Amino acid sequence: MASVPLRSTRAQIESFLVTNESWIRKTHDKVAKMRLKQALNWRQTGLLPVWGAQFLLAVEEVGNLPRQQAKLELDEGGLSMLLPSSLLSANGPELSRWPAEDAHALDRLVDSFYHGQVRSAGGLLIPRLSQEIAVKPGNLAVRKMKSRWGSCNPRTGRICLNSELARYDEKFLRYIVIHELAHLRHANHGAEFWTLVEKHEPQARELRKQLRQVSR
Ligand SMILES: [Zn+2]
Repeated sequence: MASVPLRSTRAQIESFLVTNESWIRKTHDKVAKMRLKQALNWRQTGLLPVWGAQFLLAVEEVGNLPRQQAKLELDEGGLSMLLPSSLLSANGPELSRWPAEDAHALDRLVDSFYHGQVRSAGGLLIPRLSQEIAVKPGNLAVRKMKSRWGSCNPRTGRICLNSELARYDEKFLRYIVIHELAHLRHANHGAEFWTLVEKHEPQARELRKQLRQVSR
């Protein structure tokens, strides 16, 4: 395994920060900062957010890896993208210069990484929280969704979570899980529903507000 350093992309991040320094200093709004980071393409910055922390991606070249087995790995060493030599030699180490088709494959790699993160974190949270709230949820589904962070089917109890939640602090995932589980008791957003949600997450309304701002 050989590591390909993303030197040029680091320089790009620095120049971006210098160029926008005064604007960034003026922007005390945390949500605005979250949106700013989101707006930058990760292939240009080499940065990917995972559970609210920014990781500088290390690209690892793996000799005989089949294309479809390229993947993202998160461990104590950080966040690594394992890419087959054939892809790297065809496109070069600068991911931002990759042609559209292979660049999209990289984006899908990121999507499926987030998907796996939300599936395992959600899979741990749901049994614990459903016991606290005293509800019996159905299966967990994870999907990349444009307009909602979660949903629940009151009939089947199936909970669906947006895979994009893996970008933000885990408190947002926890809030969404509580919100959807509470719908198994109250299938609306009435006073009783919010009383139940706030009993398990006192910051619920604030978290909801922040999530609405990032998804806009
Ligand atoms: Zn709701």
